[in-house]
Amino acid sequence: MELKIGNLSKIMFSSLLKRFRQNIALHLLTTIFSFYFLVAVLVTVVQLYKEYEDTKAKFYKEIQTLPATFNRGIVDSVWTYNKELLQSILLGMHNLPIVVGIKVESIDHKMDFKIGAVLNEKNEISYYDSSGKITEQKEFGLGTNTLFKHEFPMEYTGVAFEQKVPLGQVTLYSNNQLVFDRVKYGFILILINSIIKTIALWFIIYYFIRKYLGQPLEEFTTKIRKQDIHSPQTIDLNIPWTDTNELFVLKDSYNQMITRLNKHKVLSITDKLTGVFNRLKLDEALNDEFNRSSRFKSNFGVIIIDIDYFKKINDTFGHLVGDQVLIEFAKILETNIRKIDVLGRWGGEEFMIICPETNFQGTIKVAQSLREIISEYEFLTVNKINASFGVSAYNKDDENIDKIIARADSALYKAKVNGRNRVEG
Ligand code: GH3
Ligand code: MG
Ligand code: MG
Repeated sequence: MELKIGNLSKIMFSSLLKRFRQNIALHLLTTIFSFYFLVAVLVTVVQLYKEYEDTKAKFYKEIQTLPATFNRGIVDSVWTYNKELLQSILLGMHNLPIVVGIKVESIDHKMDFKIGAVLNEKNEISYYDSSGKITEQKEFGLGTNTLFKHEFPMEYTGVAFEQKVPLGQVTLYSNNQLVFDRVKYGFILILINSIIKTIALWFIIYYFIRKYLGQPLEEFTTKIRKQDIHSPQTIDLNIPWTDTNELFVLKDSYNQMITRLNKHKVLSITDKLTGVFNRLKLDEALNDEFNRSSRFKSNFGVIIIDIDYFKKINDTFGHLVGDQVLIEFAKILETNIRKIDVLGRWGGEEFMIICPETNFQGTIKVAQSLREIISEYEFLTVNKINASFGVSAYNKDDENIDKIIARADSALYKAKVNGRNRVEG
């Protein structure tokens, strides 16, 4: 059971991490702040160590100034064997925050005295109360529990003596813990200060990266995903920058690509000479119509148009004039069909019209009207020309589009054989 919970939390953590990494603002911040945190910790440790050493040096200095204040009273009380006086002086010293213990050793041992934390010969810390009794004994610890000491001699310089009389020595003890305590508050302040600053910085950076980078990118990807692959459109982004930057460049490049793609797509389905659809688009449209009609049980008609005696035009007026006639011919067809009809160049001087939602009779009518228009039309260069029309329409028994095309083809052949400038179906 424990194992399962462990695995579950592992899975949850890794999916959370993955989500975290998918968010550019969060990912960036995590990386930046991991490094920042490392550097900050390093700097703080160095700072703390320096502060600790400085404070310790200050403590030494403070302790070294104590003999000048108290030495005279101590020496006098030892010289006169005044125990009460010595005790009260030492109690006063012990009350100072930087003093944790005092040891007085007199040469004749009659005025020996210990108070507070004192280090003995075995390097143990003994704790003495104000009456000089041991209350506790501890091993000399490491780190903050270590004592450091300052020794100074007791020398009596009386009026009757020319020389100084050595009386023994006084040892003052202080504690690293005291140094640390003094440093601690400053350090806690620095720590709280930097934590607050870091958190504030985190939110500020997160907000702006998200606003200026994360959200526009998200909007961009959402809009790209929603694009219709058949007719992709250029997109606009809500970018809160006023100057051009990489985001704008990215968006503009994308839009340029879409424009080029659409242009390329138009070119790839257009006949270069006449501007109507090419064979590729006609094949696609034929298949689409066939599928739609078989699914929805609707109709569509197909007309194949072949210009009569076109070779003659080429032979008489030249290929360029032939081209011009083809352009004009396509234009006539284009202007005389419905919007939903699909006109394309089937090949050479043959064109095809696909008429959606139109039955056989309807398609015949379309073809006849076009034949008439063409035969009456005055071409710029060649005056009059005629064309032959082969018509077929979707039949529900047709298994594929080829059947319908084949019928239109043979109808066209029939129109040619039967004298041209005709419609056959
Ligand atoms: P018909 O159809 O009435 O039997 O006679 P036709 O003279 O039109 O015969 P056919 O369809 O066999 O000939 C078509 C000619 O069209 C042959 C070819 O040189 C010409 N042609 C095909 N494509 C082009 C083109 O792009 N430009 C020009 N100028 N001529 C073309
Ligand atoms: Mg032909
Ligand atoms: Mg022809």
